[in-house]
Parts: sequence; structure tokens; C-alpha cells
Amino acid sequence: MAERGEEDNAATLLRRASEALADAKASDSATVRVAEAGEEDAPVDRLAAELRQAIEHGDIDILFQPQVSVSTGAIVGVEALARWDHAMLGMIGADALFAAAARADLEIGLSDHIQRIVMARATAWPAALSGLRLSLNLTAGDIARPGFADLFLDRIDASGFPRRRLTLEITESGLIEDLGIAATLLATLRSAGCRIAIDDFGTGYSSLAYLKSLPLDYLKIDKKLSQDITGTVRDRVVVRGVIDMARSLGLSVIAEGVETTEQLDLLAKEGCQYYQGFLCSEPVDVVTLLRLVEAQAKI
Ligand code: C2E
Ligand code: CA
Ligand code: CA
Repeated sequence: MAERGEEDNAATLLRRASEALADAKASDSATVRVAEAGEEDAPVDRLAAELRQAIEHGDIDILFQPQVSVSTGAIVGVEALARWDHAMLGMIGADALFAAAARADLEIGLSDHIQRIVMARATAWPAALSGLRLSLNLTAGDIARPGFADLFLDRIDASGFPRRRLTLEITESGLIEDLGIAATLLATLRSAGCRIAIDDFGTGYSSLAYLKSLPLDYLKIDKKLSQDITGTVRDRVVVRGVIDMARSLGLSVIAEGVETTEQLDLLAKEGCQYYQGFLCSEPVDVVTLLRLVEAQAKI
């Protein structure tokens, strides 16, 4: 049994991680703020040790959220999403997990670990899932890392998962550092057979520059923007404009955070081709994913 003091410590660590995230969200930079020297006794070493231990003990788990074709209703792919199964605090979501990793300066280690386990899991999928695409989120640290393309492609090839079934999701905050470097990396990954998605579209300021200059296949509409489809006339005009623009640029559109049939119907009417969201399923483990796919096959 953990001592009460330890529990308090763990809770403090996670609270601080969430605070870092809240700071990041509130700031313009869209990056997680790292504690400054001299700031109130930040237990960063302890957090780093906990995270390292979580990685070593296999406490980082991966769930898969279905991506659905709007026209057929079929599950055509999944996005891999990380969770921290914390001994004392229960399941911790990806945002707090990555905020904690940023604070502990372990982003690259965490990202490497996640990529390894995602590929190991996906390679071991049962035959019924062998037609699905797999979407993987890349971090800003991945993109900025020298030699990342080779390292990543070697990792994919070593896993045996076909490159052509892989989509890499990138966010604006992952690109902001140096658009030229990011564009070169994405072009390399794309010519190696992977597809590229721009994630969380509609949450930043300079997205249009990215759309023009990056080699992209998909545009993922952020859940706030997807949900605006049932908002005011002005809200809808913006969603429609984004979908039209993406399609005119030859990109497929994936709406995130679709929770109701009303949202789905309106997004479908505007030409959105794929969706993700609780309307189909929350992120699930492989057993549940298989059940969902098999249930569809019977219809
Ligand atoms: P994201 O890529 O935009 O992922 C979608 C997030 O929205 C997920 O949160 C998902 O659980 C949540 N979501 C899905 N459907 C719905 C819905 O219908 N309604 C609502 N309200 N929410 C929905 P999650 O898993 O907490 O992930 C948060 C973010 O953390 C992700 O945002 C992604 O940017 C990042 N992330 C998650 N897993 C990984 C990972 O393995 N690697 C990297 N690099 N980033 C990850
Ligand atoms: Ca994503
Ligand atoms: Ca997203």
C-alpha cells in the first residue's frame, strides 16, 4: 500500500503537469511551458523518475479510435492514442501525459516508446483488422530531431507494418519551429509511402501557410470546429469554407469529435469524407476494436 504522503506527491505531480498544460493552452505559443529555474520546488526529478518507471514497467498503454468513412459507415482506420495507466491515479489522458513528459524533458523518450509499442501492437492485429489504416501522432520533438525520417522508417520496416497503411498526424505546434525542415521531412516520409495529415485544423492562426507549403493528404478538422457545424450560420460558413478549401487542394477531410448524428449529417452534406468521434466510438483497446469491426462485417 502506498503511504498517504506518496499519494499526495503523485497527485501534486499530476496537478503540476495539468497546470503546465493549462499554461500552454492559455499562451499564444501553443507549446508546453517548462518550469523556470527558481520556481517553487518543481519536483521535476521525481516526475521524470515516475515517467521513466512507467515506460519501463509497461504502464503506457495505447488505445485506438476508429476513423469512419462518412459515405459507407465502415471503419477504415484508427488513430493510436496514448494513456498512462497510473498505479495511484488511474488512467491519465494523453494531454497530461505529454505535458508531464515535457516538464520532465522526456518527450523524445516517450515518443520513441509509444511508436515502438504502437507498431508492435498493430503488427500483431488479427486478420480482421488487416485492412485498417493506422494513424500515428508525431510530436514537435520528432519533427525537429535530426535523422528522424531514417530512424522512423527503419522502425516501421522492422515492425513489418506496411508503410502505405500508415498516416502521420502533425499539428501546427509541431511545425512552428522551422517550416522548411518540417516540409522536407514530411516530403521524405510521404515519398516513402506514408500519408500525412494536418491535425487540429482550425485551432491556430497561420494554418493557411501550412496548407500551401506542406505535402499533405488529409486535413483533420478540430473537434471544436466540427461541432460548430450545428452552431450559428456564421459558424457553419467557416466550417464549409474549410472543407471546400481542403477539397479544392486535393485533401481528404476528417472531422474529429463527432458526437451526434446531427453533426455527422451536416458534415456529410458539406463534403466531409471521414469522421472520428464518440458517435462511432471512443478510443478502445484491440479486443473492443475487433468487436466493432466484426459487428460491422455482419451488417
Ligand atoms: P488529438 O490527436 O486531436 O486526438 C483526439 C482527442 O480527442 C483524443 O484525446 C480523443 O480521446 C478525443 N476525442 C475523440 N473523440 C472525441 C469526441 O467525440 N468528443 C470529444 N470531446 N473528444 C474526443 P486524447 O487521447 O486525450 O489525446 C489528446 C491529444 O494528445 C491528441 O489530440 C494528440 O494530439 C495527443 N496524443 C495522444 N496520443 C498520442 C501519442 O501516442 N503520441 C503523440 N505524439 N501524441 C498523442
Ligand atoms: Ca491526432
Ligand atoms: Ca486532433
